[in-house]
Parts: sequence; structure tokens; C-alpha cells
Amino acid sequence: LIEAAVAHAQYYKNELLVEPMKRYITLIHNKFGPSEGQLKGYPGHPEIELALLRFYAATQHQESYDLAKYFLTERGNPKGQDGKHYYDYEAELRNEPPWQRPDCYPENRSYWYNQAHAPIQEQSTIEGHSVRAMYLLTAVADLVVLSDSGVAELSSSEKNMWLQTLKRLWANMVDKKMYITGGIGAIKQWEGFGLDYFLPQGTDEGGCYSETCASIGVMMLAERMLLIDLDSSYADILELCLYNNVMTSMSLDGKKFTYDNQLASSDKTKSERNEWFWCACCPPNVTRLFGSLGGYLWHHTVEKDQVFINVHLYTNAELTFKVGDDTTVHLKQTTTWPASGSVSFELDVSRGSLSVTTRLRLPAWSKGHYNLEPPAAGLRNTKGYLELTPEYLAQNPKFKLSVGEFEPRFIAPHPYTNQNTLALALGPLVYCAEDVDNPWETNHFKDVVLRSSPEQVAQSQIRDDATGHEYVQLQADCWQRDASGHINFEEEARILKLVPYYYRANRGGKGQMRVGMVKGGGTESGHVNVFPETLASA
Ligand SMILES: [Zn+2]
Repeated sequence: LIEAAVAHAQYYKNELLVEPMKRYITLIHNKFGPSEGQLKGYPGHPEIELALLRFYAATQHQESYDLAKYFLTERGNPKGQDGKHYYDYEAELRNEPPWQRPDCYPENRSYWYNQAHAPIQEQSTIEGHSVRAMYLLTAVADLVVLSDSGVAELSSSEKNMWLQTLKRLWANMVDKKMYITGGIGAIKQWEGFGLDYFLPQGTDEGGCYSETCASIGVMMLAERMLLIDLDSSYADILELCLYNNVMTSMSLDGKKFTYDNQLASSDKTKSERNEWFWCACCPPNVTRLFGSLGGYLWHHTVEKDQVFINVHLYTNAELTFKVGDDTTVHLKQTTTWPASGSVSFELDVSRGSLSVTTRLRLPAWSKGHYNLEPPAAGLRNTKGYLELTPEYLAQNPKFKLSVGEFEPRFIAPHPYTNQNTLALALGPLVYCAEDVDNPWETNHFKDVVLRSSPEQVAQSQIRDDATGHEYVQLQADCWQRDASGHINFEEEARILKLVPYYYRANRGGKGQMRVGMVKGGGTESGHVNVFPETLASA
């Protein structure tokens, strides 16, 4: 409702919803806070914090900022209320016996489920319900973003503490608790994170939750991190989530959805979508994300007579903004991404004296390889962003970037996951095999073996007559592991057909699907990128 008020004010240019929301926030602000007589509480499901900060950015309503900051700093205080953890205090008020607990708590006082086991700044690993964790950290990042932009300053030590917290928890999540599809949360019981490197592919293999909303939350957090620190590793993960764990959650016709997004099906949990859910958070979250996608594509800043445009994602899009009253900047990109790595740009600035710098992301999987037309010498690549200077752009308002290494590549999860699997990817798309393309498969591809030989992978452009969808299909040689675990590579290979993961469960079949196949031993001529590929490029 708070965010709705901001949107309402932007659209209708009035305060009709903002005004009552101010009173509502004041009510909550009076109830919770550090003073005598106020409750030392905070929400079990973080979400209001980021809304309050957005509301503050739009209205400068101080109580919104103070309340959000209070919730973020008080969270996890072991002695916040009457010398007790706030949740213990509440449980006593409810007369709850100590053995009573929610189903999602594996043991008593599993406050890590709500990221309330310790103050946020003291948390060393990302824990608990993954959607809550993402909304919470997005609000923390908003605190830093608001400070960087001078809207609400933090002391430098405070800002540094929040920033270190964000980087530490982001790194733990991406390096040790994320699937190669951008999914997070291996454990169904608490819809959240497991131990470091615990990343089974399917429910019958130990779990795989990867809720749609959680990856949308990762995108929200990554978008803020790019404002704080322009590093392509954040945009790589943002894009990975978008094209894989998020896009796979909706059918091509937009009528069916997934809530959790496993990497491998089983007899109990087939690869299929539903029309709706009892807890229907994911479908509207996808709608909201697609409606606000423009905000994820690029950021721009204006500093006096200098303009910087940072391009994070490639698609067909146009960006228009004003500098002062009389100057308009317009940047257009045209591409078939993710089907190819070529993007054409057209920059139009209505005043010649304006200095425009454009930074273009080079994904880690491109290994920094690119082609630029017209070419330029000595371009800087800073943290994965290729910088086109005002001089270059003044001479070449039309230019074309071709991102390198746009070829099928092999990805494996970190060896510590003990998964020993191999998957295929092309550009930002991770691939999977489905029984509809491989009707010989009857066991969810559990024993299908791939080897990392690029010469054994072919690609072909497919147009599906039934859906009208065009995509690149990959074909790879595969072998079968027998019941004793033996693989005979002397046997003739079979062709495994793979489709983008987002495309799964759109064309019927038995609901059998898998992303990571058994990684074949023997001679491996091909290079395998270990996830996250951001590490591989470092
Ligand atoms: Zn959801």
C-alpha cells in the first residue's frame, strides 16, 4: 500500500493516497522505536522497510526514513525488549509453550528463518527464507543508495558497515548458495537457504526450491548494488535470474506459472506449471517485474554538463531523459539478444556541448572479448563495463557492440556441491533437456552423461509452429550410465536435444526435465566454467 501511494502520486500527480499513508506510517512509527513505551519490534517478513525508503525518497517524510532505519538496526537484537529477543517477548505474550513453533522452524527459536538471529551487520552468512532475505537486503542497499545520492546521509562508518554487510552476504549467496539458473533456496521447509554448497537439483535428490519471487528479489538487490558499485558481476547475476529462474516461471501464453523452480524433475514433482497458487505471491511479482523492466536495463546520472549512461542489459529499448530544460538525451538499442550477441546503438543529444559517456556491460562469460564498430583504440574496461568516451560518441553516434564468446559453453556447479554435473549455456541462457524432445528418456535424465567437448555440440534455429516461438536448440552427444554406475564411452553416442530452461513445460510431454547431466569422465577437451562465472573471469 505504501508503494502504491508512491506510484499513485507519480501517475496522478496528487497526494490523495500519500496523505493517508503518511498518517498510517506515523501510527506505526509511534508504536515501534527506541523510546520509552515504544515496542522494540520489527516485522517477521521484511518488506515494509524498502517501501518506507521508497516513500521517503519520493516525499521526504522523515518518519518513514527513521522507521525503516530503526527496523533495520533493531532487527536481531538479542536483548531488545525487556532484556529479551523481541520474538521471545512476543511468544511469551501469546502464552506459547516453548515446544510450539511454526512448521517452517526446524527447531525452537529458529530466528535465522526471519534473518533475526543476530543484528544484520553481524550476520556472516545469508540464512533463512530467501525472499525475506532479499527484501531485507534490498532495503539495506537503499539506505546506502540514499546516502550516496545525498538524500539521507549516513556517517561514513555506518555506511561502510552496511556496505560490508551487503557485499559479504551477496558473496556468500552467489558463490555458495545459488543455482546455475539464478535460483536461490535449496530447502523447501523454510523456502530458503541451506548450508554452503548444498545445491541438489531436484526434490527427490535432497531439495531444490528456487522460488520465483526470490530471484526477483535478487534482481532488486542487484539493481541497487549496481548503483553503489558499477561491477558487471552484479548485472551478470541480475541477467542470469531474469532469463532463467524468473522467465521459466511463466508459460509462453502467460496463463500458467511455477512457484518453485527445480533443476531436475522427479516422479513426485514433475516439470509443470499451475494456473494459480494458494499463496499467490509469484505470478503478480512476475507481472510487476516485467512492468518495471525498463528500470533494470540502464542507469543514467547527470553531473553538470556530463552525462553517464550505464547499460546493464541488452534488448530492444529506448531511453529518453532531459538535462536541464532544453536538452534531451536519447539512446536506442536494437538487438536480437539473447539469440545473438550483437547490439546496435543510436545516441541522439540535442545539444552538442553536452559530454556523454556510455558504459556497456561485458558479461563474464564473454571473457572480455568484444567487437566494436566503428572501432576505437585503448578503450577502458572497468569491472566489466566498456567505456565509450564523449569523443568517440561525438564522432560515432551510431555504433554496434558484438559481445564475444557467444557460443555454447559448459558450466558446472562448484566441486564442493558434490554434484558432478555438467550443463550447457548459450549467452545468458542456461539449457535443459526435456522428454518432449528426447522421447527415449524415462528416468528424468538421471543417468544421461555429457562430456565437455565443444565439437560434440551443434546448434540450430527452431521455430515452433504450435507456439510461434523461435529459439536456438542445442544438440550434444550423450551416453547412458548403467545401473552399476558404469559409463561405456565406446558405445555409440546418442543425440541429446536441449532447449532454454525458460522454455520448459510449454509443449506437453511427460514432465521430465533436467539442467545438469552426469559429468562424463575421460578425456575432456573442452573448458568448463565453474559457477558463478564471475569467479571464472576474475
Ligand atoms: Zn513467490
